[in-house]
Amino acid sequence: MINFNMPTFTDKTTEYILDVFAQNHASGDGKYTKLCHEWFKKNLNCEQALLVHSGTAALEMAAILANLQPGDEVIMPSYTFCSTANAFVLQGAVPVFVDIRSDILNIDETKIEAAITSKTKAICCVHYAGVACEMDVIMDIAKRHNLLVIEDAAQAFDSKYKGKPLGTIGDMGCFSFHETKNIMSGEGGLFVTNNDELAERAEIIREKGTNRSKFFRGQVDKYTWVDKGSSYLPSDVVAAYLYSVLEISDKIQSKRVEVWKKYYNAFVQLEKEGKVKLPTIPTDCTNNGHMFYLLFNDLETRTKFISFLKEKDIYAPFHYIPLHSAPAGVKYCKTASPMEITNKISNTLVRLPMFYDITNKEIEKIIDAVLKFWKKGNNLELSESF
Ligand SMILES: *Cc1c(COP(=O)(O)O)cnc(C)c1O
Repeated sequence: MINFNMPTFTDKTTEYILDVFAQNHASGDGKYTKLCHEWFKKNLNCEQALLVHSGTAALEMAAILANLQPGDEVIMPSYTFCSTANAFVLQGAVPVFVDIRSDILNIDETKIEAAITSKTKAICCVHYAGVACEMDVIMDIAKRHNLLVIEDAAQAFDSKYKGKPLGTIGDMGCFSFHETKNIMSGEGGLFVTNNDELAERAEIIREKGTNRSKFFRGQVDKYTWVDKGSSYLPSDVVAAYLYSVLEISDKIQSKRVEVWKKYYNAFVQLEKEGKVKLPTIPTDCTNNGHMFYLLFNDLETRTKFISFLKEKDIYAPFHYIPLHSAPAGVKYCKTASPMEITNKISNTLVRLPMFYDITNKEIEKIIDAVLKFWKKGNNLELSESF
């Protein structure tokens, strides 16, 4: 069976994890957390980078930092993971869904302004598949309406928009290091900001609402409970795993982009024949090789395709069920525009296996299976058996 995803370990992972115990510091903010913080500040060129235990935790911190009142609205796509919306719902706010663009599958920036009301406080944009939203337009809207911009950059490690790292363009950025992401620590995440005030408060929120970080830097002589917060920091064991993976991030990134290009080149002819649509990377955006997807013309063909690959021992999953149609989405959220594209994409997208250790043989097998699906006869045979 070729899985959709496999976790990455490196030659150093075990060594670093064992070193955590040698350090006698296994809770948060130890040696490896500090190394990760330095790594991200340097590579993302940002002022504050804080490891957290998940992308969800980073989003929850952003939602607390946004100072939302019950009923305040946050504009976002419906085609995303539930945590994007749930983080704000936990603060009593109302996610307001806007449809996505059919090319990059990100929030349609031309539909944001119509969704703004007197209650709107923030825009949470999601860089789907690591491809940037149209940030210049989004930042301009936010500026004119005095809104915060939170980037759900969970899938956007090492991706840029007009040369700027994603996650550092808006007021706050949230990354995930879940096993399914490019860089992983099993579970894990990162909160980043370039805003001084948010940076200071983020440290407190992450540490149960205490000024513990200041205390350890010697900036206050005792530490105490000063604000709202929770426990969002990971153990240094998790940071050690993450750091071992960060050290080979160049290799991971070039491998993923190489696999992505192999898929793309192999299927370009299918796109020309109108059988599938391939991902679009606008010239202002980079491709971080997070995900390779195919878009089918209809749900029926996609269902047949997924079963066809499964018979060949290849697991190719579809992706999000739109949040506006999920039970909690119906209960807690609003929909600001027709969701035509969101619904269509949800029914027609398939993701192909993508992970660091995938072999050339496996890639060839997958490409071969995809092309076979479209070979005349085979496809017909299949439709009869369904
Ligand atoms: C993965 C992901 C999350 C959640 O990250 P976790 O680390 O699993 O909590 C949030 N938003 C998007 C878009 C994601 O892809």
